[in-house]
Amino acid sequence: MADLRMAGIGMTSARTRDRLVQRLREQGISNLAVLDRIRNTPRHIFVDEALGSRAYEDTALPIGFGQTISQPYIVARMTEALLEGGPLGTVLEVGTGCGYQTAVLAPLVERLVTIERIGALIDRAKERLKELEIRNVKFQHGDGTQGWKSQAPFEGILVAAAPLVVPQALLEQLTPGGRLIVPVGPEGEQELMRYTRREQGVMRESLGRVAFVPLLGGRS
Ligand code: SAH
Repeated sequence: MADLRMAGIGMTSARTRDRLVQRLREQGISNLAVLDRIRNTPRHIFVDEALGSRAYEDTALPIGFGQTISQPYIVARMTEALLEGGPLGTVLEVGTGCGYQTAVLAPLVERLVTIERIGALIDRAKERLKELEIRNVKFQHGDGTQGWKSQAPFEGILVAAAPLVVPQALLEQLTPGGRLIVPVGPEGEQELMRYTRREQGVMRESLGRVAFVPLLGGRS
C-alpha cells in the first residue's frame, strides 16, 4: 500500500511525471541529475490528497498556514543554479515548507540543513523525508534570516522565501566559492539572485523575475 502511494497511479503516475520533466526541459532546465530528482520525487505526497491530481502541474499549490509548495520549475531552476560550479558539501536551505525542495536537493549534496519558522510544517516535512528514506538532512524550527551559525560555513545556501534585501548573515556564512540562491525584493518585483563569495567580495548575478512568499522574522 505504501509503495503504491509513493509510485502513484493515474494523475500521479510515472507518465505524468515524465510529462512534467519534458516541460521543464523545454523551459531550459538541462542538469540531468536535477531532472532525475524531479522525476523521482513523489510531489503528490507533499500536498493534501485532494490536490494530488494536480501535483505534477508546474504550479505552486497551497500547503496550509498561508504557504505554498514551490513550483517545480522554480525548484529545478534554483537547484540547478546552486549546483552549477561543482559538487557541494554542506548546504543550508531556508524555508523548508512541506519539504519538497528539501527532498529534491538532499540526494544531490553531501549534507543538507534546513530551517523553517512554522513548527507544524517542519514536523510534516520530517515525516515525508523519513518515508522517502532521505537521511542526510538536519531540521531546525527557527528564523533562517540569521542562517545557522553552529552548522556554518556552507558551500551553498538556498532561500525559498523573499527578503527585501539579502540578509548579511547568509553572505557571511558562505565558504569562499560558496553560492547563495535567493529571491530578493517586494511582492510583484522580485528577482532571483545568485551571490558567489570570492576571496575578495561577492559576485552578484540576476537569474530573472520570480514570485515568492515573503521571508518573515521570528517563529510561529
Ligand atoms: N520550498 C518549499 C516552499 C516553501 S514556501 C516547498 O517546496 O514546500 C517558503 C517557506 O519559507 C514557508 O514555509 C515559510 O514559512 C518559510 N519562511 C518564511 N520566512 C522564514 C524564515 N525567516 N525562516 C525560515 N523559514 C521561513
